[in-house]
Amino acid sequence: GVLPDWDDVERLVAQAFDRYRDRDDGAQADYIPALAEVDPNLFAIAAADVNGGVHKIGSVDVSFTIQSISKAFVYALACDRLGRDAVRDRVGVDNTGLPFDSVMAIELQKGHPRNPMVNAGALTTTSLVPGETFGEQWQLIRETLSAFAGRELQVDEQVYRSEALTNQRNRAIAQLLESYGRIDVDPLEVVDVYTRQCSLLVDVTDLAVMGATLADGGVNPVTGATVVSPDVCRDTLAALAASGMYERSGEWLFEVGIPAKSGVSGGIVAITPGKGAIATFAPPLDEAGNSVRGQLAIGYLSRTLGLNVFASA
Ligand code: GLN
Repeated sequence: GVLPDWDDVERLVAQAFDRYRDRDDGAQADYIPALAEVDPNLFAIAAADVNGGVHKIGSVDVSFTIQSISKAFVYALACDRLGRDAVRDRVGVDNTGLPFDSVMAIELQKGHPRNPMVNAGALTTTSLVPGETFGEQWQLIRETLSAFAGRELQVDEQVYRSEALTNQRNRAIAQLLESYGRIDVDPLEVVDVYTRQCSLLVDVTDLAVMGATLADGGVNPVTGATVVSPDVCRDTLAALAASGMYERSGEWLFEVGIPAKSGVSGGIVAITPGKGAIATFAPPLDEAGNSVRGQLAIGYLSRTLGLNVFASA
């Protein structure tokens, strides 16, 4: 098998949960007011392999908004439809070394978003998704993220409205990008589609299956559906390795060694090509916006399940 024996994985996932369940450091984001109201004690882990097996423990029935983790899958969608080079003309693949919502990062690059995993690059990526109207773009995004998950995903209307009322900063970023000619459609409509994509509800199993689809060359290992091409998976994972954990991505690769994406509601998905994905949900975040318990649990499972992509054995 690609992971250790079934019972060993079950045991190690349970161990990861027990080891870190009492860690209570970190803080929830409150710039999106609805996210600050979520129970900080929620904790869930799911591991999905490329053969369709899923192991899970904890608050696995709790749904949460996907937030920035959507950036990885919308980037894959854009690359699949437009080709890597067309997307790369608009969005680079290097780390900014700055927080995900940095305006300075845009200024330092004369308006060229450095990577798709920070807000400037993600807004640009969303603007590139094919569609005659913003409604069509949104529909394709929702359908594609649903195909990655293997079930139809819905928007959390309360979180969507909460962010839509308080996302002045993303509106500023999108308009700054428009001023540099990087977004050539209505920037406020782009922010609206982006805010919806961030408000899609997932549970930890959805995230693990979405990640396992990237690990499996774009084929959802549970449904068997082809979502994107193997080349797109390779390119998306490279972008995740560089920037998926924001300005902490180098530290993360050094300690854990798996391309991963975090979101501000407390989700993380980490993807080992050819093997599978680990997803976690735990709301309290570190300074960069990465879930504290999630990082610890994935680090433990990387070591014990042999998922570090840099390890030769
Ligand atoms: N919707 C959030 C935002 O744009 C996503 C950020 C995140 O998850 N880090 O600010």
